[in-house]
Amino acid sequence: MSFETIIGLEIHAELNTKSKIFCGCSTEFASEPNANTCPVCLAYPGTLPVLNERVVDLAVKAGLALNCKINHVSKFDRKNYFYPDLPKAYQISQFDLPICTDGAVEFECAGRHVRVRINRIHIEEDAGKLVHMEDEPYTLVDYNRAGIPLIEIVTEPDMRSPLEAVTFLRILKSILEYGEISDCRMEQGSLRCDANISIRPVGQKEFNTKVELKNINSFRELQKALEKEEKRQVELYRFDEGHKIVQETRRWDSAKGRTISMRTKEEAQDYRYFPDSDLVPVVIDEPAVAEIKNSLPELPMEKYRRFTEEYKLSADDADILTGDRYLSEFFEDTVREGAAPKAAANWVLGDMLRMLNESGIPSREIPVEPIRLCRLISMVEAGKISNTAGKEVFKEMFTSGGTPEEIVEKKGLAQISSEDALLEMVKKVIEENPKSVSDYRNGKTKAMGYLVGQVMKASRGRANPAMVNELLMKELG
Ligand SMILES: [Zn+2]
Repeated sequence: MSFETIIGLEIHAELNTKSKIFCGCSTEFASEPNANTCPVCLAYPGTLPVLNERVVDLAVKAGLALNCKINHVSKFDRKNYFYPDLPKAYQISQFDLPICTDGAVEFECAGRHVRVRINRIHIEEDAGKLVHMEDEPYTLVDYNRAGIPLIEIVTEPDMRSPLEAVTFLRILKSILEYGEISDCRMEQGSLRCDANISIRPVGQKEFNTKVELKNINSFRELQKALEKEEKRQVELYRFDEGHKIVQETRRWDSAKGRTISMRTKEEAQDYRYFPDSDLVPVVIDEPAVAEIKNSLPELPMEKYRRFTEEYKLSADDADILTGDRYLSEFFEDTVREGAAPKAAANWVLGDMLRMLNESGIPSREIPVEPIRLCRLISMVEAGKISNTAGKEVFKEMFTSGGTPEEIVEKKGLAQISSEDALLEMVKKVIEENPKSVSDYRNGKTKAMGYLVGQVMKASRGRANPAMVNELLMKELG
């Protein structure tokens, strides 16, 4: 029996605001514990929330970027539960009237056209953070995160493989980054993902019991967690037609590489939602929505189209570049400085990406100036340095800074194009390699490659290879 996998995602994104959602406290990451708190976000009795207007603008912006319907009236509700990181013992969220509904994102993945419908986007506040002390019998709590504005984006179960889920999340992240809606720093928890997954025999219409996976904070882990869970469910299904699959929440343990049951349906929370009486409904009229729509920047799909048309980039190159806002901006700045698009794309997607991956530096912190890459490209194209030397210069620019000219000078990488200097080297190599010389004269053309290589080696890679070739031919008749 073959199976089909059904995946839906719930994504929490912290919004790009300077202050919290219902008070004036700072949203800065990594501040001193509990420094960014006040009576409102600590839930002192008698305090009242005041909605941060920018939160509404950003949520609407997200809705428009994800092709949603913007609801002109939405309201806040209390989601009640007891947990030490939640000072009010309820979270202010949106229940039955969220701000955005009915969106969609479309993309191609492994030959399938995928349309992921967005069920809803709602606004809510984040909770604080428990800090479990290792080897100590207590836990600390940091309320800096309590009251940081979030949007929760809920998709329909429209993804059919872990790869489709990861691709969707990548696209969503780039849309939120392009729109400056969230900084999406997954390593800091400002973009978090929960996944619902179930399987069914191919051909079956109705859905089977789903399992919710929590605590996933990277693309790689989303893929791994979904693959593991998919396999676990298929095995259970083969064993007794899936009766053992219970609706439950499982936590992804990245260290152990497996999912662990947290709670089953029987223990599932009842949040007793009811409208928050401290906040009036959010009313946003059409002109306000139109104004936000006008403020939307070019989004990844449009940029992709423009890059293939304007710069004649290949589909793959344009896809990787525009999938990352910062890479695409760096590429375009380099072209604006005068670099040829194809050459700029090759450097950015080759040496630059490799260095970013090796160093772990995120693309938003590229340590090279576009103008410097542009100058490096023109030095290579003009034959002032070899391609190999160019790569060495780039590495140095990336790791320790400096202009390409300084690095070429310091490392003595300038290409040798003086005929006298090259001729001297060529003569020496001919003298030292009588065997290859006679091989060449006897028709073994391969020997030429060896001799060119010897001259390049003698020049420490700096000789102009075209000139070396020419001079060798001349000398050997
Ligand atoms: Zn506060």
